[in-house]
Amino acid sequence: IARKRFGQHFLSDTGIIDAIVRAIAPQPGDPMVEIGPGLAALTQPLVERVGRLTVIELDRDLAERLRSHPQLAVVESDVLKVDFAALAAAAGRKLRVVGNLPYNISTPILFHLLEHVAHVRDQHFMLQKEVIDRMVAAPATAAYGRLSVMLQWRYAMEDVLFVPPESFDPPPKVDSAVVRMEPLAQPPDVDVALLSELVQVAFSQRRKLLRHSLGRWLEARQFGGSFDLQRRGEEVPVPEYLALAQALQ
Ligand code: SAM
Repeated sequence: IARKRFGQHFLSDTGIIDAIVRAIAPQPGDPMVEIGPGLAALTQPLVERVGRLTVIELDRDLAERLRSHPQLAVVESDVLKVDFAALAAAAGRKLRVVGNLPYNISTPILFHLLEHVAHVRDQHFMLQKEVIDRMVAAPATAAYGRLSVMLQWRYAMEDVLFVPPESFDPPPKVDSAVVRMEPLAQPPDVDVALLSELVQVAFSQRRKLLRHSLGRWLEARQFGGSFDLQRRGEEVPVPEYLALAQALQ
């Protein structure tokens, strides 16, 4: 029954479902939003604890089934089109966002939520383990890249649970994990579009020194400050990328 194009792998291991719910630690009244509830494996234990839950589901048949549940507010939509600011305004509070995400669009979902970060209290997501490794990676490691920088400047993140393929039906081809993301309380003031462009340039030629890529880009912007370009993009820590973006603003 699972639709491949929607990245449908349904959780079936009750031990893992319990562990995810414990990691989320839902409290009565929490303004919680679940992305991709599917057959409600996570939805059911969550709504029992919070009392009322908003769920975002793209699959028409699944959305229809969920609508029969009186404690669910069903948003039948592509999550990438959902205005989380409006959901938070309706709740009167910052949201707790959770979900076992469709892996084919996990990066676009993370960037969509980054745009709405001011309206979010925390996020717990099941993702490909390899994606979470990149999100939390330290500089000078193979996993450190654009995703690490673009999320670490704004969130504290923690890999909280390993989830093997057998926990799903049908099993995906890859290992999974659950990540906790908490927006930083005092985020640096930075032009996100500029930071994003800079980071993209810095990681565009991973094996070359920055003077080949970033050097030219900085020259075109007539950057007069100093920045060590005799390194590769993966050797530059997040605070240095931030400082450079701020200097260019
Ligand atoms: N939460 C369920 C579970 O753990 O068993 C299902 C997880 S499944 C990996 C992903 C779910 O997201 C599916 O129910 C799928 O229909 C839904 N989905 C896929 N693309 C979506 C999109 N763009 N917007 C909202 N939901 C989507």
